[in-house]
Amino acid sequence: MTDNQKKVVTRMAPSPTGYFHIGSARTALFSYLFARKHGGSFLLRIEDTDKERSKRELETSIYDAMSWLGLSYDGEALRQSERTAIYTSYLEKMIAEGTAYVSKETPVEPGGRTEVIRFKNPNRQVTFHDEIRGDITFDTTELKDFVIAKSLEEPLYHLAVVIDDHEMAVTHVIRGEDHISNTPRQILLQEAIGAMRPIYAHLPLILAPDKSKMSKRKHGETVSIGYYKEQGYLPEAMINFLALIGWNPGTDREIFSLDELVEGFSLERVQKSGAVFNVEKLNWLNREYIKKLPRERVSAEIEKVFPDADKATLEKIEPLILDRIATFADIRGIKESGEFDFFFGQPGYETSLLKTPEFLPETRQLLEKLEPKTWNLEPIKEALWEFATEKGRGKVLWPLRVALTGKEKSPDPFTVAALIGKEETLKRIDHAIEIAQHTS
Ligand code: GLU
Repeated sequence: MTDNQKKVVTRMAPSPTGYFHIGSARTALFSYLFARKHGGSFLLRIEDTDKERSKRELETSIYDAMSWLGLSYDGEALRQSERTAIYTSYLEKMIAEGTAYVSKETPVEPGGRTEVIRFKNPNRQVTFHDEIRGDITFDTTELKDFVIAKSLEEPLYHLAVVIDDHEMAVTHVIRGEDHISNTPRQILLQEAIGAMRPIYAHLPLILAPDKSKMSKRKHGETVSIGYYKEQGYLPEAMINFLALIGWNPGTDREIFSLDELVEGFSLERVQKSGAVFNVEKLNWLNREYIKKLPRERVSAEIEKVFPDADKATLEKIEPLILDRIATFADIRGIKESGEFDFFFGQPGYETSLLKTPEFLPETRQLLEKLEPKTWNLEPIKEALWEFATEKGRGKVLWPLRVALTGKEKSPDPFTVAALIGKEETLKRIDHAIEIAQHTS
């Protein structure tokens, strides 16, 4: 059993056989938080023993995700494919001691393997304590003498995990709940090599809002962390969001920086039942984090998308843009939809969209009376309110809004008029009056 005085060591052990999953990111985060909270180490180990399915490019996506999220690990990442000699020496020892043996096999396919290395299963009950789920007992008899290596140089997953966790002095194995059924096998192997049993904490599954498991097959690229980076989510928001998938801070508070999470994290507050991935929550968090950014950063993101637009106009419409986006990538959507084009120039539209252009001349007169220096939202509204109420708000405000924006849907005409300025507002009303005359 683990000695409590020992320095905490956690590890993240991803297999580079698929894109870095949101569940893996959460495992990394919780392992990181636990280690940092206890002044321990957090290690990264690339589990690439499966030569056919492991890809360097996928391994790179792991490093990218960790660095994007700001989850720094201690020392160099280890790669299992570079540790063959270590596994071989353990295998030789196990064979010599009789806890493993070379087994003759009938090949499943022609030319297949005639020999593998099997574990000599002591066939007994294994009970382990899980920090999140309590005691779990398995009867290992049905596992039979399971295969632990294809040859002395080709260990399989369970053996490599156990040897590495032992060699790396891992004290706490924090990983997804899908590994619970692997744990009894790994415990038997630990006992066979004389390794200490780490403390286990299996994290709840991440579920889609319909409570089904988040899977690549069903949910496509939205299960990979890289997707969120590409979509323009801020890493701080993603970290905060991942922390709340399965961990409960115990208060109503929802905004936590990475350091605050380190401070507040505990395995006791991790729930047993599946935790729902709620993208609305992520969007909300991302907006909260955008609000915290320095203004210049936000302006720069907007200018990147509208490089040719007038800076003063951009600055004015910034609050409207921020109101409409969840992530910076959404700014591009606003540009592409053309929904804000009217801020940058006279919009085109069908005259019929004006519906009641007969109210425009009087509207224009009322607006013209306003001093340019009081040209603000409230005075504009006041100038028109009485007239609009008398004639019917829709009849007055609809054609004004269309004259200014050319759109069926847009921000209200007062807001738009205030933003584009008096001169431009009157110009657009004149244009509307003129085209309406031509068609009547
Ligand atoms: N390599 C395993 C995986 O990617 C994790 C092993 C572990 O955490 O023990 O699922």
